[in-house]
Amino acid sequence: MTSQATRVLVLNSGSSSVKYQLLDMRDGTRLAVGLVERIGENTSRLVHTPAGEGARERTERIADHEQALKAVAAELALDGTGIDSPDLAAIGHRVVHGGAAFSAPTVIDDAVLAEIERLVPVAPLHNPANITGIRTARALRPDLPQVAVFDTAFHTTMPEHAARYAIDVETADAHRIRRYGFHGTSHAYVSRRTAELLGRPPEELNLIVLHLGNGASASAVAGGRCVDTSMGLTPLEGLVMGTRSGDIDPAVVFHLERVAGMDTDEIDELLNKKSGLMGLCGDNDMREIRRRVDEGDERARLAFGIYIHRLKKYIGAYYAVLGRVDAVVFTAGVGENAAPVREAAMAGLDGLGLVVDAELNAVRSGEPRLVSPEHARVAVAVVPTDEEMEIARQTFALVDA
Ligand code: ADP
Repeated sequence: MTSQATRVLVLNSGSSSVKYQLLDMRDGTRLAVGLVERIGENTSRLVHTPAGEGARERTERIADHEQALKAVAAELALDGTGIDSPDLAAIGHRVVHGGAAFSAPTVIDDAVLAEIERLVPVAPLHNPANITGIRTARALRPDLPQVAVFDTAFHTTMPEHAARYAIDVETADAHRIRRYGFHGTSHAYVSRRTAELLGRPPEELNLIVLHLGNGASASAVAGGRCVDTSMGLTPLEGLVMGTRSGDIDPAVVFHLERVAGMDTDEIDELLNKKSGLMGLCGDNDMREIRRRVDEGDERARLAFGIYIHRLKKYIGAYYAVLGRVDAVVFTAGVGENAAPVREAAMAGLDGLGLVVDAELNAVRSGEPRLVSPEHARVAVAVVPTDEEMEIARQTFALVDA
């Protein structure tokens, strides 16, 4: 690596999309953000936005991930940092499932790639697309360090009693069934930023982090380490989400099979895509749900009520797991923007020291901030997440060592 190589390209490869950002790690500047979507269709679209400029958009068939990455490389080259640029220090790949093997970002070689492939059975929806992205990027720049940053890594510190399901141990181990947790990059970033906001070392802090986006997860973080999180073997467990059910009695699945005559794929689709807020009220966007609640819509009110009730249960559970809490932190699309969600989630929890200041909570801002009153026993904070920055930071830390 040359000494001027300070830029990191972050790639988040989905089954039919690639999201990317180019960051300069000297000062954390975001140089470009972009997205290729509908890969494999005739109406593929690439939107590339260099910092401080308008978006450049192209709609044309992009057949596969290789073509997508080449198109991205061409856009980046137009701005001066092509994929072959000496400025580029590394490519950081978001990888959803790192299983029990990967507890830290890892420079990708053939053995690492083989291990990520071995995890496909536990992450059939996500890891194949991540692997395609990695293969394609390695083919384009075989000499450049490429780093896998795992969504599960932050949660590998969970103790066995939090990570294990109470099922037959031999069966669980044979099939690698345990609670892995996801959104770890976000939980890690937000935990660190919260410590900065509070002006205290992460090692001293007990936090409950609520990542509320379309997918949603809570985690209990003690001294900078995750001790419990709400997602499990897959991102289906836990909170009520945009389209996912979160926690249900597993016997619901048997019932749907035996009584409703649904097969496994139908039940998978029901619980992952047609449940959560969407299943409850036909909308998964919290803005729309709040608008309907304000108009007196009963189904939206019930969906909101179920969402908040589940959230409170996790806050209570993690309060007990941690024993003492320094801050409850809201992040991601809903957590950062939806003041009514924060207000409702904290309502009635003053006995736990959790109080929201209505005026502070109403402030809209992209900055980390407190929404609890001064001198509150427990801080309530809003800390915008930045998964790409965290992936770039972890990637650069590894290759710049
Ligand atoms: P993901 O990355 O999981 O797709 P995000 O973290 O971007 O999701 O969150 C997306 C969700 O954030 C939207 O579905 C919407 O419900 C919610 N959201 C975004 N902006 C607002 C807002 N101003 N008020 C309420 N909810 C919002």
